[in-house]
Amino acid sequence: MEKPLVYAVKHKDIDVRMASRSGGIFTAISDLVLREGGVVYGCALDQKFKASHIRAETKEERDRMRGSKYVQSDMADTLKNIRKDLEEGRYVLFSGTSCQVAGLYSFLGKDYGKQLFCMDILCQGVPSPLVWERYLQWQEEINGAKCTGVIFRNKRDFGWEASVETLTFNREDGTTKTVHSQVFRNLFGSHRILRESCYQCPYKEINHPGDMTIGDFWGIKRAAPKFDDNCGVSLVLINTGRAGELFDAVKEGLDYVSCRIEDSMQTTLKRPLAWPEGRDEFWRDFRENDFDYLAEKYGHYNTDNAAKLDRLAKKYKNRNKWVLAKKMYRCLRQYGKRIIHRETRQE
Ligand SMILES: Cc1cc2nc3c(=O)[nH]c(=O)nc-3n(C[C@H](O)[C@H](O)[C@H](O)COP(=O)(O)OP(=O)(O)OC[C@H]3O[C@@H](n4cnc5c(N)ncnc54)[C@H](O)[C@@H]3O)c2cc1C
Ligand code: SF4
Repeated sequence: MEKPLVYAVKHKDIDVRMASRSGGIFTAISDLVLREGGVVYGCALDQKFKASHIRAETKEERDRMRGSKYVQSDMADTLKNIRKDLEEGRYVLFSGTSCQVAGLYSFLGKDYGKQLFCMDILCQGVPSPLVWERYLQWQEEINGAKCTGVIFRNKRDFGWEASVETLTFNREDGTTKTVHSQVFRNLFGSHRILRESCYQCPYKEINHPGDMTIGDFWGIKRAAPKFDDNCGVSLVLINTGRAGELFDAVKEGLDYVSCRIEDSMQTTLKRPLAWPEGRDEFWRDFRENDFDYLAEKYGHYNTDNAAKLDRLAKKYKNRNKWVLAKKMYRCLRQYGKRIIHRETRQE
């Protein structure tokens, strides 16, 4: 199999990037599919913050798919619905993990040619929905309020490189509370809460089942140092001719540079994660203890950490204001120089 073409990509619209996990390539491609009357399938959170695959025919529905949900997505009737759409002649974009894409192809058992476009996300493994459910219950208990919003990776307040989850709660008196935490991120990062099949994942190589593979561009500082701004860069692998055609059709709305795959060889492209030390112990503790115990032992939870994250969010906001002010100052200086230059010439 040939090596895919590789790009580092940033959507030109900063709001799109801020709503996406990486550089927003998913929005660019799905916008095109929707414009052409197609249907988009991807992972969204429902009202109880359970991750499942949904079907979208509008941008509003599709927007719910943006952002990574670090939990296994329930496919429900997705495969059957996709077959129905394809049989009715609709153009379909499916986005999900590589095993979900492979599962879809095997379910369909037939080549639908250009009618079906599959985009797989790079994934080191998906956490168990049961752990996510108990984590949310625990957060509601300690905050004494119902959870009304979840961001798995809060890029706006902490930047792309940081991994902080932000939860919003509605109190009974009508006020809201925002909580920044790294407990779930620490559980995910310890690799102990991933599904068992992920430690034997057969898709941990450069070639993937999707037409296009997308991921976080870890290694961007080495591959294209000036391209990184800590707001998210997508790694895009063009695996098929169809993916090349779609990329060409959307590239006007993107900033992109061609790269070498060698500069982004994260573990996900090489081998599955090893069965982590202490995984069995975690699951024994999960069955026998309350979440307080798990959060402290495995999630490194303590109240000092929560206060530290609040301070960090404020610092990041101030830093962003400072960066913006510097940019405006530079812009004004250049603009001012141009005016002076023009005036001098007129003289
Ligand atoms: C569980 C998980 C593990 C990940 N591990 C890695 C990794 O090891 N290396 C890496 O580079 N990137 C990893 N990612 C990030 C992933 O590659 C980015 O979400 C992807 O590149 C999307 O970037 P974007 O900015 O274009 O899209 P966004 O606009 O953020 O789009 C999100 C896309 O991801 C899909 N998606 C979100 N959550 C799930 C889910 N739970 N199951 C299936 N599909 C989902 C949506 O359907 C949509 O297509 C992981 C993401 C998840 C959900
Ligand atoms: S690591 Fe492999 S098996 Fe696990 S969800 Fe990702 S693609 Fe599927």
